[in-house]
Amino acid sequence: MPDGAPPLPARTLKTPRDLAAAGLLPAGAVPGAEAVAARYSIAVTPAVAALIDPADPADPIARQYLPDAAELHTAPHELADPTADAPFTPVKGVVHRYPDRALLKPLLACPVYCRFCFRREAVGPDGGLLTGAELDAALAWFARTPQVREAILTGGDPLMLSPRRLGGMLGRLAALPHIELLRVHSRVPVAAPDLVTEALAAALETAQERGKPLYLCVHANHAREFTPAAIAALARLQRAGAVLLGQSVLLRGVNDSAAALEDLFRAMLRARVKPYYLHQLDPAPGTARFAVPVEDGRALLRALRGRVTGLAWPTYVQERPAGGGKVPLGPEFSPGAG
Ligand SMILES: *Cc1c(COP(=O)(O)O)cnc(C)c1O
Ligand code: SF4
Repeated sequence: MPDGAPPLPARTLKTPRDLAAAGLLPAGAVPGAEAVAARYSIAVTPAVAALIDPADPADPIARQYLPDAAELHTAPHELADPTADAPFTPVKGVVHRYPDRALLKPLLACPVYCRFCFRREAVGPDGGLLTGAELDAALAWFARTPQVREAILTGGDPLMLSPRRLGGMLGRLAALPHIELLRVHSRVPVAAPDLVTEALAAALETAQERGKPLYLCVHANHAREFTPAAIAALARLQRAGAVLLGQSVLLRGVNDSAAALEDLFRAMLRARVKPYYLHQLDPAPGTARFAVPVEDGRALLRALRGRVTGLAWPTYVQERPAGGGKVPLGPEFSPGAG
């Protein structure tokens, strides 16, 4: 750390003033950020704050988390619910769009709030925790829907739950005879690795006691997110039996170069995380500054193919509008020579 820099924060920064006091946001940017804060949640954990280089105006970590006045502008094509979860919600907290799998969103809080989040109109620190009765109703839906073989916990971030709550939920799902797979989507291992305690790992392990595998899909967009603490958190999850997958969003100014993607996917593989999906940005309000055209995304993946281990190859996917579901975007290659 340079001399005279403010000390690293001991707690999560949740307001533009917190961010400015920690030296992460220039004073001139505070009024714009206050206007953003009136509409969208902000959170930067100590682990993330420590990764940001405030001297670099193009820092790819800062760009993912620091509010920017550009978020106040909603482009004409941007949608409040870009993945159209609402029409596919049979009971509160459940999204059922595909025949064999369904989402359970037990809470809407996250360790950090990503500026490009597709659920940014819904996520936040004070909403969305299902009550006991709502959770019972959601689990009753899973129990009476036998075509669903996979329960996918997302949110919000399920690893923000207490180990007892999370373990209980996964255990009840695993106890259903037709549930074959459990899946958890989380940003906690990279954004708040200290939350991955031995107690949390033990809860995940118990939930699998019925022999139902647990796939844990970690959201990370930049190689630098794989700090020693994050790698240790991932290792704890893996020792608890979780199969680790990676999901990333293609983001302008964060990972939109072949070198940045190669570094990201190699960092995942070193942490025993198999790159699963590279998402095209969903058009959530105020996120236009992150958009990368699909043709550019295809060109980036094409540049990696063959040069980089095939293990470092995620499926590049886009969510179709109006709840049409995820579709692969290629790139396509011709089978012939040359
Ligand atoms: C993304 C998503 C899933 C999981 O899809 P996979 O392709 O299996 O990763 C399930 N349900 C909904 C509603 C989704 O949006
Ligand atoms: S962790 Fe996921 S759900 Fe939470 S703000 Fe980031 S992208 Fe959105």
